[in-house]
Amino acid sequence: MTAHDHDDALDCGTTIDQLSDYLDRDRTPRDPHIESCPDCLNALEALERVGRLSRDLIDADAAELPAPPESWFERIFTSIQEELRAGRSLPISHPDPRVQITVTEGAVRALLRDSGDAIDGVFISRTEIVGDAETLGAPVEINLTASVRFGTSIQHLTDELREVAYAALAKHTDLNVVAVNISVEDIHTDIKDVS
Ligand SMILES: [Zn+2]
Repeated sequence: MTAHDHDDALDCGTTIDQLSDYLDRDRTPRDPHIESCPDCLNALEALERVGRLSRDLIDADAAELPAPPESWFERIFTSIQEELRAGRSLPISHPDPRVQITVTEGAVRALLRDSGDAIDGVFISRTEIVGDAETLGAPVEINLTASVRFGTSIQHLTDELREVAYAALAKHTDLNVVAVNISVEDIHTDIKDVS
């Protein structure tokens, strides 16, 4: 029994293992809880994305490049599991002071992940909201860790990622974002650069 076993469960009690088995069975027989639970559906989508990425990499690179190390996938799974927790409640401003609207930190981190992954050649491996995000107007910084496809322009992709992150946050949150920090880790870091 390790802490890891416990951490694998979503807030609703479903474990990542159960979801992963469910995906392997092509979502049959249909599980009414999973198919109607926002936490489970969010996790399923994340698992599917990682699975798709690994298949893409294997398809594209089987000839020349080794598959990413297991530890890389584990890191991404850990990060996604963190995001699936609701986390802090981030306030959204509303003209009526009696109305309090919040969005969960987990939802915003998932939004950042989705926005980044939508850029061709980018795969978000970690998201972080740093600062007093629970106070409306307080400055926060966003930290994103991304893998970029081997051979792409890192400068170009990070510029695009930063732009997309700012736009998504401005559209869906009231966070006072003072910086979007991006660190890039190449998926294929274990390849020797022959240039
Ligand atoms: Zn669930």
